[in-house]
Amino acid sequence: MKKITINGAGLAGSLLAIYLAKKGYDVDVFEKRPDMRIKDTGGGRSINLALSVRGIQALKEVGLYEEIKQICIPMYGRMIHSIDGQTTFLRYGKDDSEYINSVSRAELNMKLMNMAEQYKNVNLYFNRRCTGINFETNEINYFNEVLNTNENINPEILIATDGATSPVRVEMLKLPRFNFSQEYENYGYKELNIPADKNGNHMLEKNCLHIWPRGSYMLIALPNMDGSFTCTLFMAYDELLGGKNSFEYVNSPDRLKYFLNENFIDVIGLMPELEDDYFKNPTGTLITIKCFPWIHNKIALLGDSAHAIVPFFGQGMNAAFEDCVYLNGYIEKFGDDWNKILDEYQKDRKVNADAIADLAQENFIEMRDLVATEKFQFKKKIESELYKKYPTRFIPKYTMVTFMRIPYKTALVRGKIQEKILNQLSDGISDLEKVNWSLAEKLIDFQLSEI
Ligand SMILES: Cc1cc2nc3c(=O)[nH]c(=O)nc-3n(C[C@H](O)[C@H](O)[C@H](O)COP(=O)(O)OP(=O)(O)OC[C@H]3O[C@@H](n4cnc5c(N)ncnc54)[C@H](O)[C@@H]3O)c2cc1C
Repeated sequence: MKKITINGAGLAGSLLAIYLAKKGYDVDVFEKRPDMRIKDTGGGRSINLALSVRGIQALKEVGLYEEIKQICIPMYGRMIHSIDGQTTFLRYGKDDSEYINSVSRAELNMKLMNMAEQYKNVNLYFNRRCTGINFETNEINYFNEVLNTNENINPEILIATDGATSPVRVEMLKLPRFNFSQEYENYGYKELNIPADKNGNHMLEKNCLHIWPRGSYMLIALPNMDGSFTCTLFMAYDELLGGKNSFEYVNSPDRLKYFLNENFIDVIGLMPELEDDYFKNPTGTLITIKCFPWIHNKIALLGDSAHAIVPFFGQGMNAAFEDCVYLNGYIEKFGDDWNKILDEYQKDRKVNADAIADLAQENFIEMRDLVATEKFQFKKKIESELYKKYPTRFIPKYTMVTFMRIPYKTALVRGKIQEKILNQLSDGISDLEKVNWSLAEKLIDFQLSEI
């Protein structure tokens, strides 16, 4: 059987190594950072992610889900914190059986690496930074960060799971007819922290994703196992765009205090290290990357290297894990015929990666702004009624993306149709009793088939 080389032992690379090892391939994984299980690599031990059905499917397939479940905190809905401190709970699914999971990125990555290393046909090489590719000779160049030496390898198949800044994709840019686009949001993000109380308990409701939507900016908080919350402040970079609500403007302790007192009064008391965190933590960037083709000869992109998306649907990792599910499915279908495997993989995934990229960008406006409006909350009520009445035809967009594994593209297309129906039904009213349910039936009959 062929030997497969993976570049990047992040979330997708470590998972993919397990899938391939299970199929009997010899797998070499190269990672630029030191082994995070031994040395804190600054990858953000406290940073957590929302894991949902698509990611869970992959973890189930490799047999790791039961272990990961132990480090997950279910989040059943959004807790909206309004500016006057009022809270409103908006459920994600139909009941408590539908939830997303807060999980530590580092813990998840380490567990994936541990499992990968249990296979004797997997080797993980750390401190190896990919520095280039020669497409003519198929040679990959590495710099050994410990020995300060250059090393070259000639993989039979290379799968690049090296993230949004993928060096392999950067090399592909030099190839003829390689399409590429990158779009930075004018927004950045800053990680902050709400520690546990003195008894190790969560200081906010534990089982939800907290949002402080403030129109053009927002704060969110996801629970951690140790009783703390990791918070992320999303805000405009430039004063020109965000005015006083921008990272550029909020650049001194006085301005920070003023900004927080004006906007997040109910939470600042829970963040003793706030000022330190704000000024010490870097401001992260938000990028959407689309490119094509993902394959050149036997070199393929997977995960963020192929399709980095903004985090507002909590789907980047889930989509990357779903790439692995599909790739594995094609290995099962086509055996060792890697031309076919890679061809089908990119055909299938590209259109869906583009769709989740668009969905994620749309969802930013929903999270930071619309969730706080009465109109949005009313439309959610209508949506929930329609879902009850037509469970196979009118399925909320959030449900299609998060609790189902239907193609993202389908969720995007149906979501747009449903949004129009909801706008029509909610126009000029604010009471469920006034909704024209027979019009709803006609619109659904006419526009939405069974899923
Ligand atoms: C603020 C934020 C919040 C997010 N929240 C969520 C969420 O709630 N749910 C969700 O599903 N997704 C979320 N995401 C997206 C998620 O983090 C990514 O989609 C996911 O990490 C992609 O996995 P990956 O393995 O493709 O890339 P990565 O996890 O970035 O891994 C890439 C690996 O490649 C290595 N590497 C890079 N360059 C080289 C090189 N030159 N040589 C060798 N190795 C290299 C890196 O060190 C890293 O280990 C969020 C992202 C951000 C920024």
